[in-house]
Amino acid sequence: MSDFEAVIGLETHIQLNTATKIFCSCKADSWNDLPNTNICPVCCGLPGVLPVLNRAVVEKAVLLANAMQSDIRSLSYFDRKNYFYPDLPKGFQISQFDQSLAKGGFIDLPIPASLDPEGKGYVRPVSITKLHMEEDAGKTVNQGRRRLIDFNRCGVPLVEMVTGPDLHTADEAAQYLIRLRQLLRWLGISEADMEKGHLRCDANVSIRPRGADYLNPKTEIKNVNSIDAVRDAIVTEVDRQVRETAAGRRIEAWTLEWDEDAGVLRKMRSKETEADYRYFKEPDLLPIRLDDEWRQGILEGFPELPLERRRRFMEQYGLPEYDADILTGERNLSDYFEAAVKAYSSGAGGSQADPKKVSNWLMNDVLRMINESGTSPVQMRLNTVYLADIIKLVYTGTINTNTGKSLLEKVEKTGKAPASIVQEEGLARVSDDSAIRTVVQEVLIENPKEVESYKAGKVTLMGWFVGQVMRKMRGKADASLARSILEELLK
Ligand code: ZN
Ligand code: MN
Repeated sequence: MSDFEAVIGLETHIQLNTATKIFCSCKADSWNDLPNTNICPVCCGLPGVLPVLNRAVVEKAVLLANAMQSDIRSLSYFDRKNYFYPDLPKGFQISQFDQSLAKGGFIDLPIPASLDPEGKGYVRPVSITKLHMEEDAGKTVNQGRRRLIDFNRCGVPLVEMVTGPDLHTADEAAQYLIRLRQLLRWLGISEADMEKGHLRCDANVSIRPRGADYLNPKTEIKNVNSIDAVRDAIVTEVDRQVRETAAGRRIEAWTLEWDEDAGVLRKMRSKETEADYRYFKEPDLLPIRLDDEWRQGILEGFPELPLERRRRFMEQYGLPEYDADILTGERNLSDYFEAAVKAYSSGAGGSQADPKKVSNWLMNDVLRMINESGTSPVQMRLNTVYLADIIKLVYTGTINTNTGKSLLEKVEKTGKAPASIVQEEGLARVSDDSAIRTVVQEVLIENPKEVESYKAGKVTLMGWFVGQVMRKMRGKADASLARSILEELLK
């Protein structure tokens, strides 16, 4: 492999999460519905019907195009892409061809150090060569010698987005999909669930001698339904191409299908070329005129994007890349983090200086609570002000760290303010010298054997003594004070 470099482009089909289909009023998402229950004469392609464009599809596609830095055309067209297939009842797919909604675009993909052979991490710029709207086809299920057709998916709105041949490892391809999925959810335009077919990916793969700048014939891998499968399929195909080339054979432009269970690629068919599709302008739909007013309306309040926010979290809060990645994994979570930092640095006991503290509490404890309960940060009773309060109570010494951690659950369960739970349950830390001294003396009297071995030189028992004191005081003692009193009395 060292003599060769892989050249990978990804073609994705993204299902937009509109309520209805792209050209009719049928329900768009049929994941929980029986076959052929969300259909009508329009999406089944009966003669004499006319498509009506769903405005929400254009608006969601514009959001994606803007996020990908594409040029958005103020005038674009739908085209017919002709092919014959049982689950395409019209005999053509309404898509966009040369005057599509958007042109060009790119994403700067951060590749983490763990995936960099040099261990440093780097940025891979990925260009976007196609971004257009189209309708989905139906679904064919082979059952023995019978073919079953489900038209529910006909007319489901899609954006097809294609990258240039800019990715060079299977891991880079996986990172692209991870970032795309994150972006789609961040923008709220697709559920982006690969298992449910909301995000589908084909990979174009070729190899060339390292350092070359020409492109060799590529194969296209279809039918990969998870990010891991995309990675595995690409690794397998690159290995095959390297072996074939090394054996002096030519790579042919096959279409391959990934069999996930067997871990092998199977040849499907030779590839059609664009001429086979006989594209022409869709006569039943008007051009899409995206005037300034409509465009501005769509883009008003366009959010800070996940990769921008990730970089800002590192710069503004001094967070490590690892923290920034996790905290910007999801938009609600990153909003929650920022609100908690703000609450923590305001008011008594707060500190402007340490967002990392908030990050630690959030990543270690709150995130686990979120994952276990399946809730969203915005729905939590442990709101950002309460979280900040708990962290303050710990760092001002009012309560112990462990008490703070158990408070997280108590606040989430009861919805009460942390300070009032501390008061009601008497959780405040005891740092009163004489109170701790009394308990230390009790412990020493109750455990003469341990006192003897300690004095004989088994100093490792100190931790055990501290533990006994903490237990008697139900975890509320100031541990370092307890330790120094023990050291004094055991001399
Ligand atoms: Zn319909
Ligand atoms: Mn397509």
